[in-house]
Amino acid sequence: MNALAKVSTEQPAAGSAVLKADNVGVAFRTGQQYVEAIRNVSFELQQGETLAIVGPSGCGKSTLFNAIAGLLRPTRGHVEVAGRRVDAATGQVGYMLQKDLLLPWRSVLDNVMLGLEVRGSAKARSRDIAMKLIKAYGLAGFENAKPATLSGGMRQRVAIMRTLAFDPQVILLDEPFSALDFQTRLLLQADVSRIIAEHGKSAILVTHDIGEAIAMADRVLVLSARPATVRALHVIDLPKVGRDPVALRTDSAFQNYFARIWADLEMPPGTA
Ligand code: ADP
Ligand code: MG
Repeated sequence: MNALAKVSTEQPAAGSAVLKADNVGVAFRTGQQYVEAIRNVSFELQQGETLAIVGPSGCGKSTLFNAIAGLLRPTRGHVEVAGRRVDAATGQVGYMLQKDLLLPWRSVLDNVMLGLEVRGSAKARSRDIAMKLIKAYGLAGFENAKPATLSGGMRQRVAIMRTLAFDPQVILLDEPFSALDFQTRLLLQADVSRIIAEHGKSAILVTHDIGEAIAMADRVLVLSARPATVRALHVIDLPKVGRDPVALRTDSAFQNYFARIWADLEMPPGTA
């Protein structure tokens, strides 16, 4: 993975933008077909902030994610991380996908160490960092297990540890919990939010799940159906630490945000 290759360790000051998307547009041409996926999308991610990007399925969320990660060059506009344009080589972002992409032949420990290894970190130091994460996040005793023997939730926890281990400036999450059952999903939303906050990381969460966005984000950017354009930006004014995704559902503030974002999306009921 290119994004693991090189890492900058400079951290911008709190409150300043760590990532900027400026008028990003993406179009695909496949044979005679021309598909415009994203049109004029601009936003900023502040240092230490979690920004959720929600939009209907197929609107261009993963395409935007790929442009932010430097995996795809936008047709128009650009993305900057810490003042530098993102391209395939910058590697200042770490990403986590719906599929955990763990290497099945490697143990939990070796999977968490992967990013550090690619980066050329000394083995003993990598092992130290990885073991600390494994212990801190409830997988002590599983360090020698192979991914196939773990539950979906545990595997995603390994994936977030691997992303954190190499200390990227920005963490990108593309529907990271959508393959999990509802209960595991809610538990992991809380876990991953806490882990990101504890590490002072900035993150972008791409999701079609409004509840997940409200449970995890400081702000929610709402995209239209394809081509994705910015519909609205909501500030989620709820305490960040200890925001419990389960308790939140009965909170009137949560229900208010939900209704407003739902209206922005203009989804007919029953299609979520
Ligand atoms: P989302 O993640 O919001 O569900 P995607 O970003 O995956 O949506 O896709 C947005 C649109 O772009 C879809 O219509 C999809 O078919 C199209 N698309 C995505 N990647 C490609 C590609 N490499 N070539 C052609 N079309 C693509
Ligand atoms: Mg997608």
